[in-house]
Amino acid sequence: MAVSLFASSLEAYKPRLAEALAQVVDAGRYILGPEVEAFEEELARYLGARHCVGVGNGTDAITIALRALGVEPGDEVICPSFTFYATVEGAVNAGATPVYCDIDPHTFCVTPETVRAAMTPRTKAIVAVDLFGNVAPTDELAELGVPVLEDAAQAAGARLREGMAGALGDAATFSFFPSKNLPCLGDGGAVVTDDDEVAKRARRLRFHGSDDKKTFVEVGYNSRLDEMQAAVLRILLPELDGWNASRRAAAQSYARHGLGEYAELPEPAPGAEHVYHLYVVRHERAGRLRDVLAARGIGARAYYRTPIHRQPATAGYAPAGLELPGTDEAARTHLALPMGTQLSDGAVREVVQACASGST
Ligand SMILES: *Cc1c(COP(=O)(O)O)cnc(C)c1O
Repeated sequence: MAVSLFASSLEAYKPRLAEALAQVVDAGRYILGPEVEAFEEELARYLGARHCVGVGNGTDAITIALRALGVEPGDEVICPSFTFYATVEGAVNAGATPVYCDIDPHTFCVTPETVRAAMTPRTKAIVAVDLFGNVAPTDELAELGVPVLEDAAQAAGARLREGMAGALGDAATFSFFPSKNLPCLGDGGAVVTDDDEVAKRARRLRFHGSDDKKTFVEVGYNSRLDEMQAAVLRILLPELDGWNASRRAAAQSYARHGLGEYAELPEPAPGAEHVYHLYVVRHERAGRLRDVLAARGIGARAYYRTPIHRQPATAGYAPAGLELPGTDEAARTHLALPMGTQLSDGAVREVVQACASGST
């Protein structure tokens, strides 16, 4: 039996989604209307944050959030290199100079030590990425004295100790790209913060730098979450906790079936409740393991084999001789195995058996 890398489906929600979309057409408002307003309130309440500002996508969310936090052209912003490219792209689009920091290859997240090693007197912000659904130690990073932006694109519904991912730093960003844990039916994103001024500035930046649509006080963006996507998200947000429970159950099933004998299993960061956006193991011969799984019809892939400090567009920001050993280790050994809200125990068993055959 083939096992897809993405074991999730919105099939069961089709009638309700279609109805919600039809209602938006009936109402005839498509940009910044009641659905966006209601979703912003609902997501903020779910996260325990004061403000949510819906924007066009998770990449713009990073740019807008960094500018709203006061980052200006030339300011240094610390970013991990082992993350989706958009984390760094969003910082560069804000005019910032990215400064790469290392990660802990066991959690795939930054640590206070790796961030501290990258700090200079010009550090204006830190971007902590909750990678693969794990949660970066954002509360500890806050003690470093620099604003922390949490890139929670992959961690909707995750928790760290008392707080929800997305409510841990000075601001946070989300993406609702269709493959994320909280998806919409296209592009969508959000900036979340407790700070009134940061929220106000993010609202202004998403609408061309204007508070009143008449006076344009700074050059911003045309980047809004639209009514159709907000209507979809209002239906799917109440499903998020249940979906994440299914993902955690699948992760437990991998461990129970003995996957740990054949690969290093994903490790929740201390105090983190992981939501397994992706189920990423580490293996010394990850490429070969991928081939063995592919031969059995099992989806598996590496996401960030070339980290951002070695990508053509962004290598120039890395100082000569920069060494990020945790990043290199993670980049070389990581492999995502099938995960999703509908991954059966039988499918998990099959993946583990295939990994067993691939390890001989
Ligand atoms: C998906 C993602 C983004 C970008 O989100 P888009 O909505 O695709 O622009 C940013 N950071 C991380 C870590 C992501 O996974």
